[in-house]
Amino acid sequence: MKTVPVDDQSCGWYQILPEPQPPRVLAGHQKADWVVVGGGFVGLASARRLAELRPNDRIILVEALRIGQGSSGRNSGFVIDLPHKRDLENPDINFKRKIIGLNEAAIQSLEEVVTRYSIDCQWSRAGRYQAAVGARGIEYLNKYKLLLKNISHPHTWLDRAALARVLGTSYYEAGIFIPTGILMQPAALVRGLGQTLPPNVEVYESSPIVSFDRSAGKFELKTPQGSIVCPKLLLGTNVYSAEFGFLKSRMLPVMTFASITRPLTLREFDADGGKENWGLTPADHAGTTLRFTSDRRLLIRNQYRFAPDYASSESRRAAVRQKHREGLTNRYPHLRDVEFEYTWGGVCGLSRNYTAFFGKVDDGIYTSACHQSVGAARGTISGQLLAELATGQDSQLLSDMIAVSGMPAANPPEPFLGVGVRTRMKYEAWVSRSEL
Ligand SMILES: Cc1cc2nc3c(=O)[nH]c(=O)nc-3n(C[C@H](O)[C@H](O)[C@H](O)COP(=O)(O)OP(=O)(O)OC[C@H]3O[C@@H](n4cnc5c(N)ncnc54)[C@H](O)[C@@H]3O)c2cc1C
Repeated sequence: MKTVPVDDQSCGWYQILPEPQPPRVLAGHQKADWVVVGGGFVGLASARRLAELRPNDRIILVEALRIGQGSSGRNSGFVIDLPHKRDLENPDINFKRKIIGLNEAAIQSLEEVVTRYSIDCQWSRAGRYQAAVGARGIEYLNKYKLLLKNISHPHTWLDRAALARVLGTSYYEAGIFIPTGILMQPAALVRGLGQTLPPNVEVYESSPIVSFDRSAGKFELKTPQGSIVCPKLLLGTNVYSAEFGFLKSRMLPVMTFASITRPLTLREFDADGGKENWGLTPADHAGTTLRFTSDRRLLIRNQYRFAPDYASSESRRAAVRQKHREGLTNRYPHLRDVEFEYTWGGVCGLSRNYTAFFGKVDDGIYTSACHQSVGAARGTISGQLLAELATGQDSQLLSDMIAVSGMPAANPPEPFLGVGVRTRMKYEAWVSRSEL
């Protein structure tokens, strides 16, 4: 394995949580019936469902970092029921209905766990604003409105003044409010999901799998201090699946960045004149995501970078922070001196044909990966269904998941890939500059 995940301690969502108990690190030689690698949305949902389906089996979940430090804990915290833009443009209405049904099932099952275990993660059915700043954004917003109408999804058009009453800024020309979907604190949710797994799942953290072999129909996974032999493997490793030899040269590891402020004071908040606890996604996909959390922090997310090394340097984050500063000051000039407490990057698994993979990759090995930037819902439901597939279950949701998944397109070889992706990103950033 060439690269394993390393945490850079930069993710605000994780850093503001209380210090966790020390990790249980994998040591010695273990045998298990099932190993789930990865403690993100996919891995956690796979392990939980597997534990229900195989209550007497020994199930081990291994995570390289602390649970919550990976991309699933680094995102903007939207659990979205709607298909992402490309899927929404698909002319087949049944295809879109299947995705919505799957995402709704994900939301329902996450909500059940959050409620049952009182996971403190700012979970709220707050809906979502999709908004536009300039002409390009408005064009996308109008298209989006039409797409929502085509699937009869509830939504309300808001003009600049109506939007300003919520957001506390007149920066946006127009927006659409979609009352469905969830806002949450991702690191808190993911940590909570990890802490509430059924007792027949043994969780090992800070235990990167550094090598992976197969012999006599069994897999041997090694970590720096231990190893596990198992006959069945579920990979919830998203872009890192390539390190295990799967979906190689099919995923595009793309990093996007977020910054979060300290909590605003009541006076700063009053000056906004807006409401608490809302989330806004950009009508133009290359634009800016914005959130105002229930603990009164502002989060801004934009900027993309091709990240075959899955990492970002401190100097890169400093440059991004400067861009985020400009973005926030444009929207809230009176908050120009409110510092960002944290700036971080996280890797998304994208594909050139916008297709996610779900299924068997080899005898005894299953994975679900490449959920573009909507992995909270899609990762959760596909993780659950991966456990069902691997244990030979049959259900309508499983058929639907298979129907909406596919094979991510093969990438061109380097250096063409890197040059192509970087050029495309620069172009997108340029044409979408009014939305940043
Ligand atoms: C800044 C940002 C904002 C985003 N916003 C949203 C959003 O608002 N809503 C949304 O739905 N999606 C969003 N996304 C995308 C979303 O975070 C991902 O789609 C999702 O996290 C994918 O989940 P996953 O379980 O497939 O993978 P991951 O979360 O990447 O989990 C994979 C896990 O595998 C572990 N792993 C990898 N290799 C090894 C190894 N060798 N040994 C052990 N463990 C290993 C990793 O450490 C990691 O924890 C965003 C992403 C980013 C970066």
